[in-house]
Amino acid sequence: QENAEYLVSLIRSVPGFPKEGIIFRDFMPVLADPKGLNILLQALEEALPVPADEFDAIAGLESRGFLFGPTLASRLGKGFIAIRKAGKLPPETIGESYDLEYGTASVEIETEAVAHGERVLIVDDLIATGGTAKAGADLIEKAGGKVAGFSFVMRLDGLDGIDKLGGVPTSSLVSMP
Ligand code: IMP
Repeated sequence: QENAEYLVSLIRSVPGFPKEGIIFRDFMPVLADPKGLNILLQALEEALPVPADEFDAIAGLESRGFLFGPTLASRLGKGFIAIRKAGKLPPETIGESYDLEYGTASVEIETEAVAHGERVLIVDDLIATGGTAKAGADLIEKAGGKVAGFSFVMRLDGLDGIDKLGGVPTSSLVSMP
């Protein structure tokens, strides 16, 4: 509880970014703070949505899932898979498109990134509508893997993002308005 409050105290809120009416929740100051970074990794490990022996690898969503995903994976003795935004990887890739408020976006991984039947925990800094996490999960499944769970640092209240994830076990450390 004290640790959760400490993490929340470090999260920076930026009104009007990336556009008017939105409050951007920025966890970079948590990473910059030695105690905060330590608490964050410890808390992610303790709050895993499924026991560590129920997944084989961690996949991070670009970009902020890359900031702690590999470290968490290393602490748990797992490897790390990068789910990239479209157009960053050389061929061959597998992609998955999803709807944004205006338009669409896609995520991609290398064709060989996921072993057949590999059980994957997906991580990101924040879940809002759940569209990005759902696309990442669909991509892992398309590549032959199985999504074992989702782990987020923050979830935004009132957006039902987690409901989009099909009942797959999910954890988040703090909720933000
Ligand atoms: P969703 O697809 O609506 O759930 O949005 C989640 C994705 O957008 C994640 O990859 C987040 O990193 C990013 N995102 C959305 N809102 C915020 C925010 O307030 N702070 C940081 N990242 C955000």
